[in-house]
Amino acid sequence: MELKITCIPGDGIGPEIVAEAKKVLNKTAEKFGHNITYTDILMGGASIDVHGVPLTDEAIATAKSADAVLMGSIGGDTTTSPWYKLEPSLRPEAGLLKIRKELNLFANLRPAILYDELADACPLKEEISKAGFDMMIMRELTGGLYFGERKTVTEDGVRKAIDTLAYNEEEIRRIAIKGFDIARKRNKKVTSVDKANVLDSSRLWRAVVEEVAKDYPDVTLEHMLVDNCAMQLVKNPAQFDVILTENMFGDILSDEASMVTGSIGMLASASLNDSKFGLYEPSHGSAPDIAGKNIANPIATILSAAMMLRYTFDLDKEADAVEAAVKQVLKEGYRTIDIMSEGCKQVSCSEMGDLLAERI
Ligand code: NAD
Repeated sequence: MELKITCIPGDGIGPEIVAEAKKVLNKTAEKFGHNITYTDILMGGASIDVHGVPLTDEAIATAKSADAVLMGSIGGDTTTSPWYKLEPSLRPEAGLLKIRKELNLFANLRPAILYDELADACPLKEEISKAGFDMMIMRELTGGLYFGERKTVTEDGVRKAIDTLAYNEEEIRRIAIKGFDIARKRNKKVTSVDKANVLDSSRLWRAVVEEVAKDYPDVTLEHMLVDNCAMQLVKNPAQFDVILTENMFGDILSDEASMVTGSIGMLASASLNDSKFGLYEPSHGSAPDIAGKNIANPIATILSAAMMLRYTFDLDKEADAVEAAVKQVLKEGYRTIDIMSEGCKQVSCSEMGDLLAERI
């Protein structure tokens, strides 16, 4: 198969971790008989330094012409970097918002997995963490409260702020379809999270999700109220497979779920549109404090590349091979500094990439 990938190495540790992800992708392609073409584009601070803007139209066109985008991370030290003296629309993060909008990425996927070998980093009680967990949070990314009408007014001398939470059935249906499709590739269970006891938008959400579920008789659907879900994530995270939810609930729950894994350098993510196209990136930032030292953990980016193989290219065996290599390397006791614990062998960013590529 021909795989056309646009890469955004970005800023900080971005170029280091993307190089390791390419190393692992190249080995996977060689092993399974695929051909990958990469085109790099600049975004964030790297683009500001060259072009004066965080993302050019040419870079967007290059991204659109690929099958998928693999990104490291963008941004610098927000207190010392000159990029943050620029007006907001010219700062590094504006590039990220622009590319998400241009590519119409409405579905955000964040897996939260507890690896046996890293269970010590999990802040939950041992009797809960020992059951392990492997869930996928699917968050709607372009609607709801963050995109609704908002205003602040003064009425009778009293200031009043209004935010609007609106969803139409099409926005709900397209993300629900993605959620069920992804559950089919996993353990075939969707937990749809809402606040249907209070909110109209949640009642519509629930009704549309039920309509979509009829086309997926092999997938189990359950509904859960968001307050209960926040509790269940720390009480019994093993019960979840795919959590499907709207923008603000997903924002909060995905951070909660990733915190219970305890390891920021391990957290992958993907943002998808209604085709097979996706932007894949680690959940963490550009870590300027450790940039250029070859000590960053490349695993989140490598697991994001595995998501790309699975969700954009439907190469499930290849994605399994990358994920299995990660488990194997952890089992053998290799760790980057952020996940280091007693008795393990500390390796650099590039050594971790080598170890993973060797195990494909
Ligand atoms: P961060 O995630 O970059 O770093 C937080 C801490 O985690 C730091 O101590 C860092 O060294 C560590 N860390 C992060 N990733 C690591 C890895 N792979 N291996 C080892 N340690 C790792 O968050 P921050 O410091 O708040 O933000 C730094 C910059 O990143 C800012 O400019 C911010 O805007 C940007 N950012 C970008 C994205 C993105 O590109 N999507 C996301 C979040 C933050």
